[in-house]
Amino acid sequence: FSTVNVLGFDFIKATQQEFVEQLKKDSLSHKNRFVVTANPEIVLTALNDPEYSSVIKGADYLTADGIGIVKGAKILGSSLPGRVTGFDTMTAILKWCDEERKKIYFLGAKNEVIMTMIEKIKATYPGIVIAGFHDGYFKDETGIVREIQSSEPDFVFCALGFPKQEYFIEKNRRVTDAIWMGIGGSFDVLAG
Ligand code: UDP
Repeated sequence: FSTVNVLGFDFIKATQQEFVEQLKKDSLSHKNRFVVTANPEIVLTALNDPEYSSVIKGADYLTADGIGIVKGAKILGSSLPGRVTGFDTMTAILKWCDEERKKIYFLGAKNEVIMTMIEKIKATYPGIVIAGFHDGYFKDETGIVREIQSSEPDFVFCALGFPKQEYFIEKNRRVTDAIWMGIGGSFDVLAG
């Protein structure tokens, strides 16, 4: 994708649907990818924190998850086709993984939230192979990373909130070639 620079960050110029299609392609060819769906809070935090900023800039795909970023691009004279949100991306990928029997690792949220969410995933998307899951309040990061590595998921969804999820992905993504994505509070929404 070509990109549009807003406040120093290169956002991909893609519609929600084009982006999902790209992720499917990347997954089928076993690419290692780090996806950040950046809302204005993420951008503001990165602007004030050089370490977080460099992590965000290291993502393979930075999408505009927030109308503020789309409007900001317009004010700066470039146009983005629209929002590409973490939640919509995750929903589309869940549907595809269900159809294609792809494997997902789910990390994040409170224990009762992820337990409820996993039950809903099993009921709604029976074709998804659950590589594993863990709540987002862990001490044994090494154990979780080892579990992700040995289960060889196609996708790793990290709902640890920002900036924790981006630091986690950037630190650990090399253990297995998957699409690694930070998705904030999406597990809470899915659990209902
Ligand atoms: N979360 C987590 N571990 C943490 C902090 C947060 O798993 O150490 C989870 C939290 O339970 C929620 C999600 O991350 O499901 C998003 O948290 P929050 O709303 O604070 O962040 P944001 O949505 O603004 O990224």
